[in-house]
Amino acid sequence: MRTLKHFMALALALAMALPIGAKPKIRIIATGGTIAGVSVTSASTAYTAGQVGIQTLLDAVPQILNLADVDGEQLVNIGSQDMNDEVWIKLAKRINEILNDEGYDGVVVTHGTDTMEETAYFLNLTVKSEKPVILAGSMRPSNAISADGPANLYNAVAAASSPACRGMGVLCCMNNQLLDAKTVIKTHTIDCDTFEGGPSGIIGYIYNGEAHMLQTPNNKHTVNSVFDVSKISRLPKVGIVYGYANASPIPMQALVAAGFDGIVLAGVGDGNFYKDVFDVAVKAQESGVQIVRSSRCPTGPTCLNSEVEDSKYHFVASLDLNPQKARILLMLALTKTHDWQEIQQLFKEY
Ligand code: GLU
Repeated sequence: MRTLKHFMALALALAMALPIGAKPKIRIIATGGTIAGVSVTSASTAYTAGQVGIQTLLDAVPQILNLADVDGEQLVNIGSQDMNDEVWIKLAKRINEILNDEGYDGVVVTHGTDTMEETAYFLNLTVKSEKPVILAGSMRPSNAISADGPANLYNAVAAASSPACRGMGVLCCMNNQLLDAKTVIKTHTIDCDTFEGGPSGIIGYIYNGEAHMLQTPNNKHTVNSVFDVSKISRLPKVGIVYGYANASPIPMQALVAAGFDGIVLAGVGDGNFYKDVFDVAVKAQESGVQIVRSSRCPTGPTCLNSEVEDSKYHFVASLDLNPQKARILLMLALTKTHDWQEIQQLFKEY
C-alpha cells in the first residue's frame, strides 16, 4: 500500500514537473497596501498606502528572477481598508483566467494587511485551481528602514513556484510564514510579526527560497468549493454588528431597515447577544434576514445551540469563523440558498 502510494505520488510529481531548466511562470497581481506605500521619510511612521506600482516593487527584488519567470499587472492601487466586493469578484475572475487559460503556474497577490485575511478567505472559496495562490504584503512602507516587503514578496514568489503549495488553498505569506486562508488573522496593529494561524498555528514556512509545509487545511476550498463567481457581478449585502455590555439595538435595526440580506453578530463569549439586540435579531430572522452568530473573542468556536437556541430561532453558528470571515461565507452562501440549515451545513464544510 505504502509502495503503491509512493509510486502514485512519484508518477503525479513527474506528470506535473516542468521541463528541465524551465522556471515556473508566476503572475503578480498588485492591489496596493503598505507594500506599495511610501512614508514621508525612511524613519517616519506616517505614510500613504498604495503609492508605488508593480514594476517598482519587482525592481526592488531582482533575486525573484532566479526563482521564476515573473510578470505583473496592477488590478487596483488602494489601502486594503478600501477593499470591496467588486474588487474581490474581479480578482477571483482574473486569477481563474490566469491559472486556467493563460498557462501560469501560480499567482501572487500583493495586498494591504488590514483586510488580507478576508481577501484570502474569499479567494479560497472562489478560485477554481489547485495551483498556488499566495497573498503577500508588508507592515513597513517600501522606503522604510528594514522594509519587510521585499523579503515577503520574494518568499511569496517562492511559495507560488513550489509544488508543495499546490492543493493547499489560498495562503498568506508574511514574515517567513505561510498561513491558511481560513485560520489566518491579523493580530497586531503595527508589528511585522502580526499574522497568526489561530489555534492550529502556521501551515508552513519559507526558508532559503523553499516552501516547507507542516499541515494541510481541513476544510473545503478552491476546486472543491461549490461557490462560483464567474457569472456574478454583485454579492448579497451582509453587515456585522458588534456585541458589548448594554449594547444598542440601533445598528442591527439600521441594517435590517437598509435591506441587508444577512447580519453577522460579533457577539460576546460564545456568540451571545445583549437582550435588546437579541429581540431585534429574532424579528430580523423571521423577516428573512439571515442571522449568523460569531464572536468578538479572538480564539475559540461559536457553537451551535449552546447558550442560544439556534434551532428554534433558525440562527446559524459561525463555528470556527471569526465575524469578518463569517460575513464572506454568508454572502457566498446566500448566492446558493436561503435555508438556514443548508447555510449551517456550509459553515461546517468551509
Ligand atoms: N491600511 C493599509 C492597508 O491595509 C496599510 C496596512 C498594510 O498594508 O499593512 O492597505
